[in-house]
Amino acid sequence: MPAVSLSLRFLGTSASRPTVERGVSSIAVVREGETFLFDCGEGTQRQMMRYGVAFSLRDIFFSHMHVDHMLGVVGLMRTMALQGREDALRLWGPAGSSKVLRRAETLGADRVGFPLEYRELSPGECVRRDDYSIVAFAADHMRTPALGFALVENLRLGRFNPDRARELGVPEGPMWGRLHRGIAVTLEDGRQIGPEQLVGPTRPGRKLVITGDTRPCDATIDAATGADVLVHEATFSDEEAQRAAETGHSTAREAALVASRAGARRLLLTHISARYSRDTSDLEREAREVFQATQIARDGTEVEIAFPDAGAESADTGVAAGA
Ligand SMILES: [Zn+2]
Ligand SMILES: [Zn+2]
Repeated sequence: MPAVSLSLRFLGTSASRPTVERGVSSIAVVREGETFLFDCGEGTQRQMMRYGVAFSLRDIFFSHMHVDHMLGVVGLMRTMALQGREDALRLWGPAGSSKVLRRAETLGADRVGFPLEYRELSPGECVRRDDYSIVAFAADHMRTPALGFALVENLRLGRFNPDRARELGVPEGPMWGRLHRGIAVTLEDGRQIGPEQLVGPTRPGRKLVITGDTRPCDATIDAATGADVLVHEATFSDEEAQRAAETGHSTAREAALVASRAGARRLLLTHISARYSRDTSDLEREAREVFQATQIARDGTEVEIAFPDAGAESADTGVAAGA
């Protein structure tokens, strides 16, 4: 069965201000053709053009209201309006975000001609969709309301065994799909076949966690438990650990410890201080001493997230994964 795609693209990976190499925070996540933005720093729309991210997206999630995470929405909204957009754009963020984002809507003389919906989320709150949820959790960033987000896919159906189905004389077609969905079928010769004969146990979906700006914290460890990909901020290296603590940020090593404690499969580091913009080798080395599967993101870095059991997808029964 063709697996449901899930990927992320780093649009901006610099902390606080842009550098020659890096724009400020934004990540595009694309799941089976549906696009989300996580943060929208200054210049995000141009990065979207550069990397082919769809402007038709419906949801932007804001981790917090520091300007390096939200200023880009001012221009992005105007471009969407120029494109004749009619669909609503939903802007999700922590407590107090709607007031700030409304100012982004009214800034300047040109109006935004499509509906904007402001939704504030509390830690633990969950945006449920058919096949996945986006769960907000509390980040620890100065005294600013700040959220991280976990995209969690629903359980998938168990693996369908086509060889066994043929052995049992179940004709390929709608009956396979019914069995895969857990419904027993009756063959032409009157035999009853139950799903337990052909379908394995349900399997977990994927989990992607994005922290936004934060100190290392237990809420991230909880949210990222077993995550396929953890995107954690890593503003500083060991030598500026004190500064990281004072400014509500993390070092690369601290981020790696969070990934290790959470049992994540893979760690991507972003929100890199300007002083390491060109050379991230210290950050990478320090993180990998704790968590080997670490990569420092650059603007444009794309990450495909496969199912942990990829390559072993079951036969095509016409039932989509995540159903
Ligand atoms: Zn920031
Ligand atoms: Zn911040």
